[in-house]
Amino acid sequence: QQQELPPLITMVSSPGMGHLIPMIEFGKRLTNHHNLPVTFIIPSDGPPSKAQTTVLSSLPPAISHIFLPPVTLSDLPPNTKPESLMTITILRSLPSLHQTLLSLMTSHRLSTLIVDLFSTDAINTAAELDIPSYLFFPTTANNLSLGFYLPQLNQKFQSEFRDIHEPLNIPGCCRVHAKDFPIPIQDPTDEAYRCFLHHMKNYKLAKGIIVNSFLELEPEAFMFLKKNEPVVYHVGPLVNQDTIHNESEFEYGLKWLDEQPRRSVVFVCFGSGGTHTSTQTDELALGLEMSEQRFLWVLRCPKDKVENDSNFIANSNVDPFNFLPNGFVERTKGRGLVVPYWAPQAQILSHVSIGGFVCHCGWNSILESMVNGVPLIAWPLYAEQKMNAVLVSEEIKVAIRPNVGEDRLIEREEIASVVMRLMEGEEGKKLRNTMIDLKEAAANALKQNGSSTKQICELVLKWKGVITMPN
Ligand code: UDP
Repeated sequence: QQQELPPLITMVSSPGMGHLIPMIEFGKRLTNHHNLPVTFIIPSDGPPSKAQTTVLSSLPPAISHIFLPPVTLSDLPPNTKPESLMTITILRSLPSLHQTLLSLMTSHRLSTLIVDLFSTDAINTAAELDIPSYLFFPTTANNLSLGFYLPQLNQKFQSEFRDIHEPLNIPGCCRVHAKDFPIPIQDPTDEAYRCFLHHMKNYKLAKGIIVNSFLELEPEAFMFLKKNEPVVYHVGPLVNQDTIHNESEFEYGLKWLDEQPRRSVVFVCFGSGGTHTSTQTDELALGLEMSEQRFLWVLRCPKDKVENDSNFIANSNVDPFNFLPNGFVERTKGRGLVVPYWAPQAQILSHVSIGGFVCHCGWNSILESMVNGVPLIAWPLYAEQKMNAVLVSEEIKVAIRPNVGEDRLIEREEIASVVMRLMEGEEGKKLRNTMIDLKEAAANALKQNGSSTKQICELVLKWKGVITMPN
């Protein structure tokens, strides 16, 4: 009976924007190119953030969304790690997810449930209803290889990984120092590490892993992963390339960018959740000033000055300008534009005035820069960003990584120096040329017969044709 119903792709995305954004781009590809409707199912522990509702409400009608009833997390200790918070949010949402899937099944054939990194416990819920699951991996194939190698690393080194000083040779992964491992796996005794391992184990239950990267960017990693189970699909780079309307909230910023010379502005933004201490914020401001380059900076309140919660960036009323060094805005007037909290990054990076990007190395941010041929300053902060920084600065060579001082501070002189090297020097020119080559390779991967397009078609054939896949 289900066979006769129209197919529907369902996706579960954990709270936050970093996973939702690329999954939406994948959803757009499925609806626009393959006429497959998509429904997002979003668990949470409170009301949706402004960023979530803005993005979701702007989607075409073939992409719908359902917010599951918020769960309560008030019984958890205040120092619970974000990884655990997200995992527990999903675990506590499984009964309502089950109900939602059942209800969608009355009108649709659910071809698949695509889960994000923190939602892997939903794979069992889907299996109870005979729905095959796929994992959406929003970062690099290199990171996936590292994840799969973790049990062996654990056996080999009983100590904390950060005590290993020589670079490691991991199959399918670039040479990396343990200090650059993703934060949750730096310390095997930590709760976040156990959480990571729990999800890694669940990855094996998926029918396939969909990676938002492309073959030509990480050939060795994909070649390695393709030899293993589950099947890995490279579908990227999927990034938002919608044009922004002039009458948007950011109209003043676009106007300012229009007035700047081509490739003259360095864009500074640290992802959806990146914040600095007040000392680092001061150093960054003074470093940008010292560089004498044009800049567009998305500014957040320093983390030691305001209470931090997961919805903080989108919902706070505190004015981050209060925390800038005295006279900074006046002294850099005309040459610099500071935007509070949030700006349409993907569109900014596509503007001809942008010549460089001081980036926290979130994978979406790196891909958005790549599809526009913009070279980077790699300033990793959390999650797997240090691994991404190694990839872009040492392997594919499209980024400069600044030196971090002993107190983990990047000083103003260093900031000024890397910004100048990127925007004016020969080094910057070389990095830009490599990035422009990658821009072309990225576009080719998504052309009609491109490597990523072919993989998406393979998935679509499965999803259009069958209810459950043989084991
Ligand atoms: N983003 C944005 N405006 C901002 C900050 C972030 O549009 O002011 C978007 C950015 O374009 C990217 C996403 O938020 O698509 C951040 O994802 P990423 O993987 O780079 O980092 P995360 O936020 O997950 O650390």
